[in-house]
Amino acid sequence: MEKNITEEKKIFSFDKSFSLNILYAKPDKYKQLEEISRQFDEIVNTGSNLSYSPLGINQNGVSLELKKFNRIIDFNKNEKTITVEAGMTLIDFLNFTLKKNLWIPQLPGYPTITIGGAVSANSHGKSCAVHGTIRKSIKSILLFHKINGWMILSEEENKDIFDLTVGGLGLTGTIVQVTFNLTHIENSIFRTKKSKVSNIQECEKFFVKSYKDTSFIYSWHRADNLNNFGEGIIYENFVDNESSSNFQNFKIKDNKFKPLPLPFWNSFSISIINFIFLHYSRLEKREKKENFLKVIFPFYGKESYFNFFGRKGFLEIQLLIDQKNLQNFLEEFKKLYKIFKPSIALFSLKNMSGEQTFLRFEDNKVCVTFDFIKNKSSLSFMNEVDKLYTKYDILPSVVKDSRINKDVFYKTYKQASDFRNKLHDFDKKRSYKSEASKRLDL
Ligand SMILES: Cc1cc2nc3c(=O)[nH]c(=O)nc-3n(C[C@H](O)[C@H](O)[C@H](O)COP(=O)(O)OP(=O)(O)OC[C@H]3O[C@@H](n4cnc5c(N)ncnc54)[C@H](O)[C@@H]3O)c2cc1C
Repeated sequence: MEKNITEEKKIFSFDKSFSLNILYAKPDKYKQLEEISRQFDEIVNTGSNLSYSPLGINQNGVSLELKKFNRIIDFNKNEKTITVEAGMTLIDFLNFTLKKNLWIPQLPGYPTITIGGAVSANSHGKSCAVHGTIRKSIKSILLFHKINGWMILSEEENKDIFDLTVGGLGLTGTIVQVTFNLTHIENSIFRTKKSKVSNIQECEKFFVKSYKDTSFIYSWHRADNLNNFGEGIIYENFVDNESSSNFQNFKIKDNKFKPLPLPFWNSFSISIINFIFLHYSRLEKREKKENFLKVIFPFYGKESYFNFFGRKGFLEIQLLIDQKNLQNFLEEFKKLYKIFKPSIALFSLKNMSGEQTFLRFEDNKVCVTFDFIKNKSSLSFMNEVDKLYTKYDILPSVVKDSRINKDVFYKTYKQASDFRNKLHDFDKKRSYKSEASKRLDL
């Protein structure tokens, strides 16, 4: 093998719960990818390492970073399909497709996430109530597996491995190319409408009433104390068909995630900022035009939100809850809140559609997200909340939550054992592993 193809570096999970010294390789030729893969017993595929939990990192073996595989392989205007390499970032993908008024609507919220990372996590965007997850736009995948070799995966070809790979957390091999069915988008300018709600019941009613006419609808709520828990804002985004737009390439600055040496977020600062944000939002116009980046990648330009948690990082839980269970779950959540007094920095809701299978975070349910300051009271609180999942038939995201243990995982992901068995049949040596897959015994 060529020299200097592997390097050592220290790497963190995005939520900063894990840090490891790893050996990583950045192949730029398919032959190199084959050689490196065959040389190591354990491999982890890595995109931009923007998963909150340690899905793209592993202590042993090699970390395969595919960033150099970032080309467009084929584009068919008539059939509206595109084949790209898996290391391509979402923003490079969009800079090509949006010029042609095409895109995929299931885009996770940060522009430097890679295609391979989004497919492996079965990512979703703001419009997941209507458009579901990225699975809906995938036509086929070219996979390389160190033992099983090169494989084309689709609904028609190797369907069993296709099903394990989409949302399979990179455990079936390296996704090298992905072919997408593209969707027409009239314009890359949006109109955003904001509505104020006093509690979650009001928000639910709004979602039920509006979701048939609004593809993009989601909400932000206060959870910094129990008196105004749920007070917040609903956002609706509409593609602005009337604006004329000459699409210009988006230029993105990378590496904006740099945690402050000491955290800025604490219970006091969260309350103040939440208060200011809510009241400032009320003073703003109810409806305004917004550009594509702001709507689709809401955290781009607001990286300080994450940096303000400091070097210790933060924790997130993201849950799929049946609408009929949401209020009862939140009542118990608030009772626990009273006892443990966690520090919650973010609380948001959106509806999701889809069918839950294997490890995919997908269902016809409400998607509820909470971000926490990492401290003792938040951790004790979160451990108690975990105990409510079976009672309310809740699915927690393993992409977002780095704490989920094996027990909670197998109880909530009903097909996880089936996934595990099929994966072991496909690769008896279980070559592709991550810190998260080891924790979840996959
Ligand atoms: C600010 C921010 C906002 C986000 N918003 C959303 C959101 O709105 N919706 C949502 O669903 N998610 C969201 N995410 C999560 C994100 O979409 C996923 O964690 C995604 O997997 C990250 O992609 P990545 O390129 O960083 O991959 P990594 O984090 O490096 O890897 C993620 C997983 O993909 C696997 N993988 C990566 N590349 C390949 C490959 N070529 N072949 C096989 N496996 C591979 C890895 O092994 C790992 O299991 C957000 C993350 C951030 C940081």
